[in-house]
Amino acid sequence: MRFSWVCRKFIRDFERVSVKQRVQNLYDKAGYGLFLAVMLGGCSVFDQIEDVDQAQLQAEAVPAPESRKFDGADCPIFFQGLASGEAQERFFEKGKCGNEAPYHVFALGGDYPVQLGPEAKLNCAMTTQLQRYFADVVQPQALRHLGQSVVKVRVAASYACRRRNGRRSGKFSEHAFMNAMDISALTLSDGRTLTVKRDWRGLGRDARFMKAINRGACKYFTTVLGPGGDTYHQDHFHFDLARHGRKGTYRVCK
Ligand SMILES: [Zn+2]
Repeated sequence: MRFSWVCRKFIRDFERVSVKQRVQNLYDKAGYGLFLAVMLGGCSVFDQIEDVDQAQLQAEAVPAPESRKFDGADCPIFFQGLASGEAQERFFEKGKCGNEAPYHVFALGGDYPVQLGPEAKLNCAMTTQLQRYFADVVQPQALRHLGQSVVKVRVAASYACRRRNGRRSGKFSEHAFMNAMDISALTLSDGRTLTVKRDWRGLGRDARFMKAINRGACKYFTTVLGPGGDTYHQDHFHFDLARHGRKGTYRVCK
């Protein structure tokens, strides 16, 4: 059958071209790409040529989506050098969890940089508020109460696809949207580590520092929970940027 011969010749010619060139051709020449698609489609329907995996050809011809570029327009706090991290591909799972523009955040900058360990998975707004909170509240309070700065923070949780307080039903936690972070300990420049669980209690300078940074967080986050709040937060501070109330102006500060 004449059409069969045409198809075989077309596919043989097609196979001689390198994959890279095929992709380039498709990219540069939309007309040729359309012709290619019509020919391959027609050949598979009419001629049933078995030695060409059309799905494979199609997969080769479609360029992979480019990685999301890390630029300041995305999230100025990184561009300004006030946080270090990596932009990630948009990420969603289980229908509800994830974020359009996630970041892996390694450190917060400013006059007194702070390392996050392990790295936090956060959205831009949360990263921005965390940097401001550390620069405006945590470091000044550390210098005031303890005579030194905080150099490292233990991230007890950042992204987690779960509901509030780990319940099986009810509202999703802001952790599910990369809009929350839990802190369980802070390491000072002399190497000493304060934990929320141990150092919250008492009247000493460590406890005064812990309470000061818990109280001071309320200006920067819409939800602040700590040992003074409920039983779920006896060993860490929880900060998030949830929208509370109809106007979104209500704040939870415990
Ligand atoms: Zn939390």
